[in-house]
Amino acid sequence: MPEPEKIERLLDHPAVQRLFRWMTRQDPDPARGPSARDGQCWLGRFFEAYADPGPPAPSGPGLRWWRPDFAIPYLLTEYVRRKTGSSRETFRRRVFGNPAVRRGLVATVRSVGRLGLTQPQRFVAPLMVVWNFTQACNMACKHCYQDAGPTGVLSRRLVPAKSQTKPEVPKDEAGQEAGRPSTMLGAVLSPSKGRRADLSRRLVPAKSQTKPEVPKDEVGRPELSFDEQKRIVDLLARHDVAMIAFSGGEPLMSPTFLPVARYAADLGMHLTVATNGTLLAPDKVAEMVASGIRYAEISLDSTDPAKHDAWRGSPGFWDRAVAGIRNVVRAPGIKCGVAMTVARWNLAELRPMLEWCIAEGVDTFYAFNFIPTGRAARLADQDLSPAEREQMLATLQEYLAGGRISIMSSAPQYGRACIELGDPAGPVNTGHYGHGGGRMTRILARYVGGCGAGRCYMAVQPNGDAIPCVFMPIRLGNLRTDSFETVWNHPVMEVLRDRDDRTGHCRICDYKYHCGGCRARSWGYFKDLRRSDPGCKFNQAEWHAAQSQI
Ligand code: SF4
Ligand code: SF4
Repeated sequence: MPEPEKIERLLDHPAVQRLFRWMTRQDPDPARGPSARDGQCWLGRFFEAYADPGPPAPSGPGLRWWRPDFAIPYLLTEYVRRKTGSSRETFRRRVFGNPAVRRGLVATVRSVGRLGLTQPQRFVAPLMVVWNFTQACNMACKHCYQDAGPTGVLSRRLVPAKSQTKPEVPKDEAGQEAGRPSTMLGAVLSPSKGRRADLSRRLVPAKSQTKPEVPKDEVGRPELSFDEQKRIVDLLARHDVAMIAFSGGEPLMSPTFLPVARYAADLGMHLTVATNGTLLAPDKVAEMVASGIRYAEISLDSTDPAKHDAWRGSPGFWDRAVAGIRNVVRAPGIKCGVAMTVARWNLAELRPMLEWCIAEGVDTFYAFNFIPTGRAARLADQDLSPAEREQMLATLQEYLAGGRISIMSSAPQYGRACIELGDPAGPVNTGHYGHGGGRMTRILARYVGGCGAGRCYMAVQPNGDAIPCVFMPIRLGNLRTDSFETVWNHPVMEVLRDRDDRTGHCRICDYKYHCGGCRARSWGYFKDLRRSDPGCKFNQAEWHAAQSQI
């Protein structure tokens, strides 16, 4: 039997899963004493000891692997290490030496132990949380999913739906709109037709907008205080969340962003930030690195400053974002990503943008899928057709295979495109934040690929509300007041985890475990989490249904 199938069978064995439950039972180390910041388990302690075995013992290596609690994980680790042809030093430094990797491994082993080996893999807690840290932003981009802006509470929410006007779309040199003739999805999904979930947000009295220095949510609740933010970090750490991706609004607008990042870094989490880049002066980048941020992703939608500025709302933003990108590229200790929301108006700029990123020394290019939510709901005519999305995916796959830059995307069909278009031994995307090569990665993609909402990922709002994905404004509860389990095991999450519980081609698709379709798009267009993603080439009927609503 080939090696990957052997590993699958091993992980599927009840005795192995029992062992996994045993090794990952949370059980504070008596030697350290109980600690709220220490979600320790037997396996986690072993990983730490492997990474830092201490001085050699007189009778052998520093790691006391013969200790009864270390012997089994040691033997399992050695098995995997030999199969992957890695040295002990590599495992020590690059795998177990990274506390975030240790957390992710513990969470994965715990999940397989408790929930079994499932396709896609279910997790007892998210591996990653995107934290919309503040609603405040120094920009007001036309497609913002969070509907963020300078006051921290958006005026859109205070304006009756009928008075919403269509945002301007960047024009080409001849003054023609880059997209197709426009109509407004927002009008079709207006509260008056009973289709929008956010009616109450628009009815908030204007007086709640008068304190921009204390950002509040749409019903006047303040954003989390510093102490509450730290408590949320503690909560995530106790559940072995490996990564926090800070987003917003603009995280750098919040005075508590970097202190909270530092607090989370001390607990061994991998930290990234999505930013508009305009506040990334060299000293601010250095501060971010010192606070533990290891990846900064800056939004840039065009290589043409005028088009970017038109989309982002004000002149000069392109120059400031590019200055921010260059400052991150030059800084040691942090990787730089450029994020482009690919829409009809800038699809033709995808290649120039990729070449620009490569020339600038950017580490990662991130192609965001267009999702009709937040302010982007009013721009649904800018969404890519299935054929246009295939064009985008083919370009992403080509550049990923080319190896000149790392390519990620929030389009869940990206993994499918890599398999369809790439060499069988070539790189394959394994979710929104990973890719790798070889047969093992192709199998792994069936477990971790595609949409992660509610399965290995969730999002937290500035006020502590938990939602399945930043693009899916469905409130699951609030981490200020509700238990983690209440939020993570909400019935909506159960729907998201079950890729057999779908309608249309997403239910029977050969790639449903690699992809699953973007649930936020199905929600955005149809308010139906089970319906097929209308952006996929296999779902033309859904695309036409979505178009008929615009
Ligand atoms: S719903 Fe799923 S595929 Fe869509 S953006 Fe969210 S995590 Fe990604
Ligand atoms: S039909 Fe659905 S699961 Fe299959 S590739 Fe398309 S979006 Fe993904």
